[in-house]
Amino acid sequence: EVLVVGSCNTDLISYVPELPRPGETVSGTRFKTGCGGKGANQCVMAARLGVSTAMVAKVGNDQFGRDAIQNFRDNNVNVDHVTVTREAHSGVASITVNDRGENCIVIVSGANMTLSPADVQAAAHLIRGSKVVVCQLEVPPDTSLEALRLAKQNGVLTIFNTAPAVPLSDDFFHSTDILVLNETEAEVLTGIPVGDVETAKQAVNRLLARGPGCVVLTLGAGGVVFSGRGSEDTDTLTHIPAESVATVDTTGAGDAFVGAMAYYLSRQRELAFSEVVRRSGVIASHTTTLPGTQTSYQVNILPPGLT
Ligand code: ADP
Repeated sequence: EVLVVGSCNTDLISYVPELPRPGETVSGTRFKTGCGGKGANQCVMAARLGVSTAMVAKVGNDQFGRDAIQNFRDNNVNVDHVTVTREAHSGVASITVNDRGENCIVIVSGANMTLSPADVQAAAHLIRGSKVVVCQLEVPPDTSLEALRLAKQNGVLTIFNTAPAVPLSDDFFHSTDILVLNETEAEVLTGIPVGDVETAKQAVNRLLARGPGCVVLTLGAGGVVFSGRGSEDTDTLTHIPAESVATVDTTGAGDAFVGAMAYYLSRQRELAFSEVVRRSGVIASHTTTLPGTQTSYQVNILPPGLT
C-alpha cells in the first residue's frame, strides 16, 4: 500500500570526547552501526505501524548492501525492487558524535545515486497498485520526479519530502499532493529564514503557490505548521505544537513523521487531514525519547489509540 522510492545507507557512528580537527586523530569510546537513509527510515516507520510497504532502492554488491536488504526483510518490506549494482558501493554515512551530542556527518551516496528513472519504470506496476508513494532527494532528483509523475498519473497519492533541499523546478510540485519539509529545507526553497510560527506560515504560503496540494512544515520541538487539504479545511494554515516528551535524541524524527503520514494516508483514509498531521507529530515526538534512528521507531512506546 505504501511504496517508497529513495535512499538506503549504513550509518557508521563513532562516539568521541571531542570531534577531531583537520589532521588530528582521536580515539573513540564507542562504535555502532545502524540502518539509515531517509527513504529506508520512512519505509521502516510505515511498515512498523502496520501497513504493507515496498521499497525501490539501489545498494552495492557488498556486505552493507546485503545487511540493508536483510533489514528491510526483517521489517516485512517488499524488496523485489531493491537491486544490487556493481557500479558503486552501498551508501554510507560516517557519523562522529562528541560528548555534548554535537556531530559531524559525511554521507557518501554511492549506489543511491545510480537509482534511475528506468528503475522507477521497472516498478511501475507496484506504483500503480499503491495507495501512497513517498519520495525524497537522497537519490537523483530526476528519479524522484519520475516516481511522483507516474504515481500522480495513476491517481496514487504522493508525499514528497524535499530532503536534503536543493532548488527544484515547479514540475516537482505539480506532481506533489503533500509536500513535507523542515525549517532548513523551507529556507532553501523559499529564501525565508524560518524561525517561528509566523515565518513558517509565510514559507508555507510561498510553497503552496508553487503547486503542491498541501504543505506540511515541521518545526522540531516547535511542532508543525500545515495548510489544509480537501473540503474539510481548505485555505487554512494551522499550527500544532509538539508533544512535550523527554527527548534524548532527535535524529530520524523527520523521517518518522513522513513514514507515519504515509501510514495514515494509506490505511486510515477517513481521518481528517489535521488529525493525520497531529498523530504523525505525536509519533515523531515519541521517537525522540529513544536513542538512534530506526532503533527509536518502537510502536510499543506510543500512547494508545494512535494506530
Ligand atoms: P527533521 O528531523 O527533518 O529536522 P523536525 O526536527 O522538524 O524534523 O522533527 C519532525 C517532528 O518530530 C516535529 O514536527 C515534532 O513532531 C517531532 N519532534 C522533533 N524534535 C522534537 C522535540 N525536541 N520534542 C518533541 N517533538 C519533536
